Amino acid sequence: MAPSGTIRGEVAVRHLSKSFILNGKPLPVLHDLNLMIRSGESLAIVGASGSGKTTLLRILAGLEEADGGDVLIDGRQVRGVGTERAVIFQEPRLLPWLTVIDNIGFGLETRGLSREEARLASQRYVDLVGLKGFETAYPRQLSGGMAQRVGIARALAVQPEILLLDEPLGALDAMTKIGMQQELARIWKEEDVTTVLVTHDLEEAIFLADRILILPREKGGEPRLIDIDLPRPRDRSTPGFVRQRE
Ligand code: ADP
Repeated sequence: MAPSGTIRGEVAVRHLSKSFILNGKPLPVLHDLNLMIRSGESLAIVGASGSGKTTLLRILAGLEEADGGDVLIDGRQVRGVGTERAVIFQEPRLLPWLTVIDNIGFGLETRGLSREEARLASQRYVDLVGLKGFETAYPRQLSGGMAQRVGIARALAVQPEILLLDEPLGALDAMTKIGMQQELARIWKEEDVTTVLVTHDLEEAIFLADRILILPREKGGEPRLIDIDLPRPRDRSTPGFVRQRE
């Protein structure tokens, strides 16, 4: 939780570096990366395969440790995972023995709520992701798009300050994907949460993000940060749209 009076969900990345060891040799992935993610903004991370998108997201999530540098959330240095961040992966990895509503409430139960309390609190998120009527369905009864809706609801139900998404729509077919892009834009309008989205789909990034971070393909290249000088995603209608500026 942010100390009272401070902004919620602001992320500062300072001098971040990360290498892996590949065939006995260091493979530099991130080098002295500095970045400020504003409270409530939607940042997309794009770049060629292998440019370090997932690595950066995993470091922000606390799932991967950086070699150097810091991640600060609302001015506080963070290490490891924390309740102010929730992560959505390409595969939602739902618990097959739990119903939709209990999958969504699972994170709340692990935080001490009873199953009944978790169900009550989860209903809002069932509605938010458009799954009303599917509360008692099991994951095996859901399409890929519906399963990912459950994953999104489960992440939002714990009320994170920051939502980190790694190719969340990457496993969906083209039509479902377009529908889900619109859903995400609508959900982000309703939820006041900072979002960081890793995607290889530039059109998706332009549609959903306020700013885009482009990680360089070549080592030693500079990351670039681009402002999407368009109406907020919340005000856009469809991917691939053409719309006059306000
Ligand atoms: P992207 O998401 O942009 O495709 P990644 O962050 O997944 O890129 O990976 C960046 C580079 O780091 C790739 O060359 C990848 O092979 C390497 N890499 C990622 N994770 C590991 C790991 N755990 N061990 C060794 N190399 C890794």
